[in-house]
Amino acid sequence: MKVLDLKNTILNIKQEFSGYFKERDAEINGSLLALLSGEHVLLLGPPGTAKTLLANKICETIEGGNFFHYLLTRFSTPEEVFGPLSLKALEKDEFSRRVEGYLPTAHIALLDEIFKANSSILNSLLTVLNERKYHNGKEVLDVPLFSVFGASNELPEEEENLEALYDRFLFRYSVDYIQHEENLEDLIFENTEDFLPSTKLSVEDIKEIQTKARDMRVDPEVRAIIRGLRRELKNSNIFVSDRRWKKIINVLRVASAVNGHTSVNRMTVVLLQHMLWDLPEQRETIRKLILDRVVSGGTDTGKLKQNVLDLRNSVYSCLQQELPDPVSCNKCFEEEKKTIGGVRASRFTGVKATKNLTFNNALDFLKHHTEFPTHTYSFGLEYSSINGALSFEAVAGQFRQRYDFEFKLSLDYGDRKLYEKEYENLEERLNYFRKQVQEEEKALEETLRENIWVSGQDSKEILIKYRSKNTDIYEIASHLNEIRALLEKPKIFDVELEKAEVA
Ligand SMILES: [Zn+2]
Repeated sequence: MKVLDLKNTILNIKQEFSGYFKERDAEINGSLLALLSGEHVLLLGPPGTAKTLLANKICETIEGGNFFHYLLTRFSTPEEVFGPLSLKALEKDEFSRRVEGYLPTAHIALLDEIFKANSSILNSLLTVLNERKYHNGKEVLDVPLFSVFGASNELPEEEENLEALYDRFLFRYSVDYIQHEENLEDLIFENTEDFLPSTKLSVEDIKEIQTKARDMRVDPEVRAIIRGLRRELKNSNIFVSDRRWKKIINVLRVASAVNGHTSVNRMTVVLLQHMLWDLPEQRETIRKLILDRVVSGGTDTGKLKQNVLDLRNSVYSCLQQELPDPVSCNKCFEEEKKTIGGVRASRFTGVKATKNLTFNNALDFLKHHTEFPTHTYSFGLEYSSINGALSFEAVAGQFRQRYDFEFKLSLDYGDRKLYEKEYENLEERLNYFRKQVQEEEKALEETLRENIWVSGQDSKEILIKYRSKNTDIYEIASHLNEIRALLEKPKIFDVELEKAEVA
C-alpha cells in the first residue's frame, strides 16, 4: 500500500469511528497509532465508558490478523490466557501448551481488567508484551503481537507489584464519561455494538509502515522541544525512562511516516501528552507544557514591544521636570479620608493611599490636572486648609513668581525630530511583524490540517495560543498610537497658563 493510501485509510477509519464513538477522538487516534507502531494502549476509566467496545472495534479493523480477547479476574489461570496443556506432550513427559487461538498467537489482544493479572500469569505476560516471546516448555515462540489493549477501572495499587506491567503501556488514556448532552443521546439511542468498521488495515500495511519509519529524520526543533520537556518533567518529579523515550520517538516516526512527511516535525510532538503521565492528575500539566512548547518559536514580538515601551518612556521623560515644591491635591485627600472611614489618610501614618495625592514631578501633576480639572491644591506634602485651596493656575503662577519655573507642555523641536525618526522605524517593524504573524498563522493552520494525528481539540488550542501573538501586536500598536499622539500635538497638555498671571 502506498503511503498516501495508508493515510487515507487511517483517515477513513478515524471518520468511521468518531461517528460512533463520540468525544473519543484522542483515544481513537492513539489506538490506531499504537497499532501501527506496535505499542500497547491502556484505557483507564470508570465502567460504562465504552473502553472495551472501542478496543474491540479497533481490533476489528485488522484484516488477516488473530484477535484474542479475555476478561481477567484474580483467579484467571495460565490456561485461559496462553492455552491448555498439551496432553500429547505430557505423555512424552514434556510440558507445553496448545497456544493456537490464545495470546501467544495473537496479532492484537484485548485484556479487560488487566490489573487483575495474578502472579501465575504476570511473568509470561510481561515477556509477551515486552519481547514478543513466549516460553512454551522448552520452546521459545515468536509472538506476532502488534498491540495489547488493556482496559481497567483503576490504576494498580502500589503494593501489587504491577508497576512493570503498567510501564509496558506506552499510550495511556483516562477515559471520561460523555460530556455533551447530544452525544450522550446518540449513545443511548443508537446501537454502537452493531458498528462494523468497513475500512480495514492489513498486517502487511503495518509492517510496511514500520519499516518505512525506522530511519525517519527528527527535526532539530523537535529534539530541542524534547530536551526541554525532559528537563521540566524531571523538575516536576515525573520520571520517564530512557526506554520509554526511545519508544516515544519511534511512535513519532511512525506518525510522521503515515502523514507522508520526510521528517518528524514540531506538530507531531502534541502526541506526547498521551505517553508521559503516570497519574491521571498529571495529565493537564503535561498537556499544557507540550502545547506551550509546540507553539513557541517563530516571530518574537517581545523585543519590538520593549523598544516601543522604551521610546514611550523616553518621550515622557523629556517632559519630566522636578517641581520646585511638592504639591498635594485637596480633593483627593478628602476622598481618601472618606474611603478609609475618617482615619487620617497619609502615607506618613502608614495608611496606603489608593491614588496619588502628592506630586513631586510636573508630568504627574499635569496629567492629574488634565484628568481632574476642578481639583484644588496646597503646597507641601499634605493638604492643609490653612494654605487655602489653590487652583492649578494659581499653583503655576506661584511657581513662576517664586522660582521662575515654567511647565514644559510640549516637546522641543530637536527631541521631536529624533523621536519621529525612531517612531517611523518602529512602525515599519510592526507592519512587518504583522504580516509575518499572519503568514505564520496560515502556515500553522495548514500544518495542523494535514497532520492527521492532531485532534480537533488540540488544533483549536494550538491556534488560540498562537493567536495570543496578535494580542501582543495590538498592544504594541496601541503604544505606538499613544506615541504618535504625543509627537503630533504641538502642545501635549492643554493647559491655559495665561490665567496664572492673574493669580
Ligand atoms: Zn485630585
